[in-house]
Amino acid sequence: MTGKIKLDALIVGGGIAGLWVVQLLKQKGYQIALIEAEQLGVGQTLASQGMIHGGLKYALGGALTGASEAIADMPARWRRCIAGQGEVDLTGLRILSEHNLLFADASSLGRLTTFFASKTLRGRLQRVARADWPLALEGCGGWVYRLDDLVVDTSDLIARLAKPLTGQLYQHQLSPEQLTACSSGWRVNLPEQELFCDRLILCAGAGNEQLLACLGQDAPVMQRRPLRQVIVRSSKLSPLYGHCLTGIQQAEPRLTISAHPDADGWLWYLGGQIASRGASMNDNEFVIYARAELSACLPWLDLGDAEITTLAIDRAEVACAERRPDAAFASRCGDSIVCWPTKLSLAPDLGDRVLALMPEPSSSCHDDVATDVAIKAIKLPGAIAGEAPWS
Ligand SMILES: Cc1cc2nc3c(=O)[nH]c(=O)nc-3n(C[C@H](O)[C@H](O)[C@H](O)COP(=O)(O)OP(=O)(O)OC[C@H]3O[C@@H](n4cnc5c(N)ncnc54)[C@H](O)[C@@H]3O)c2cc1C
Repeated sequence: MTGKIKLDALIVGGGIAGLWVVQLLKQKGYQIALIEAEQLGVGQTLASQGMIHGGLKYALGGALTGASEAIADMPARWRRCIAGQGEVDLTGLRILSEHNLLFADASSLGRLTTFFASKTLRGRLQRVARADWPLALEGCGGWVYRLDDLVVDTSDLIARLAKPLTGQLYQHQLSPEQLTACSSGWRVNLPEQELFCDRLILCAGAGNEQLLACLGQDAPVMQRRPLRQVIVRSSKLSPLYGHCLTGIQQAEPRLTISAHPDADGWLWYLGGQIASRGASMNDNEFVIYARAELSACLPWLDLGDAEITTLAIDRAEVACAERRPDAAFASRCGDSIVCWPTKLSLAPDLGDRVLALMPEPSSSCHDDVATDVAIKAIKLPGAIAGEAPWS
């Protein structure tokens, strides 16, 4: 051991949760560092569709709780950050789309009366005139609405969040054997150093489960929701961001489509009900099902020659009696704080909750020189940003 380092908090996990929390705490004067097992964002964050939404799925379900109404604020909070006026500076963040479209065949409108009347959507939904439909929907015989939810480029998001944090983000997989509880906080045995922190903030996504179990914590409990996303490559694809509601029977869009630049044009990344259903299918079955869903939802597009690949990934979130939590989760657990943002969109909500659980920064943090020296003295390799799974 060649030194002891004292921090207010060590954040474990470099997805949206960890990076958002690090930014907030840094601004408030906390002495902090983050460790990431692999590369920044490689868990759920870079596999997400980047949709910053305000509660579409809750509105589809027709059942709103107070917490689910809180999500309605999230697109506006992200937009403030992107304009440089929010709690985290996201100025210049690459926006893939300023809105999301909802489309369906003509016969599906009647089933969606409660959805269109939803309080969450009030003022945020406009019917789009046919002349303004994107190329990909030109053959659609139904209707198109526009929702003011935005879609962000998650690779750019991770890179921008990481940039001002040089010297505070490290690559290291924390194993519970490295942790010892002290009178106030934790001692972390790193390969070459001992690190002391008042709080351990677990933002490790699915990795929180193992960390909590090894620390002997039987609460909070994590749940996984297995998904199998679809990646579609075809020269016939053009940009499309939105949800297909044709024939939906449950509170989930039949297809959620995001488009991403690819070597030969655009690829589509599909989630929604197709991804939930696909989780229990084998690869061959799923590719056949995905082709059938594409032709049922977008029958005017001939995607017979499309190359289809799939990505199996779990959503990790706090377990809840209703199938899905509807807000971010942060809970104090001794000298740890356990976090699941639930959604990328809810990162601002997560930030509020973590700040509310933090004690004041320790006095050493007001000594700028000592702070700088201590953090930069951590002997671990720096963490770098990962790539989206389709790259
Ligand atoms: C397919 C898919 C699509 C989605 N689309 C959307 C969307 O469009 N909009 C939306 O709002 N939400 C979406 N979500 C949800 C959203 O992506 C997640 O809620 C969010 O990214 C979770 O962030 P996180 O930081 O908690 O976890 P993660 O991004 O999984 O990050 C956790 C990190 O912790 C690291 N880690 C794990 N164990 C350790 C350890 N022991 N030591 C150090 N590091 C560790 C991992 O390597 C990982 O990088 C989607 C999710 C999925 C799976």
